[in-house]
Amino acid sequence: MEGLRNKETQDRLMRICAWCTLPIPPGADTFGFGAQANQSLNLEDQARKFVSIKLTLSNKTTIAFVLPEGSPAKESGYDLFFIACSQDCAEQLKEAFELELDVYNGSDVNHDKP
Ligand SMILES: [Zn+2]
Repeated sequence: MEGLRNKETQDRLMRICAWCTLPIPPGADTFGFGAQANQSLNLEDQARKFVSIKLTLSNKTTIAFVLPEGSPAKESGYDLFFIACSQDCAEQLKEAFELELDVYNGSDVNHDKP
């Protein structure tokens, strides 16, 4: 996971679908949604940056915007924001991400076993 500092890069990433990676044309609607980060993700000092997140089960790497303190989505309990080009991509990404979180959570449970 690597924070991307360059402002132009950030602007570009704002217009790329996090699921299908196609560029979103200027003026087109985007379908973003907030998500809670797993504890295994270190988001310290990553606020307002994009981070890449590996979705092992989907064999995909996706990008997410790290929400800064004080933003409305952050106040709602979200850490990350995904940007998608369509409702369909947003749904698929959401499902893949949640599935991935379940696996992480599952492995945490296993660690607690004797
Ligand atoms: Zn898409």
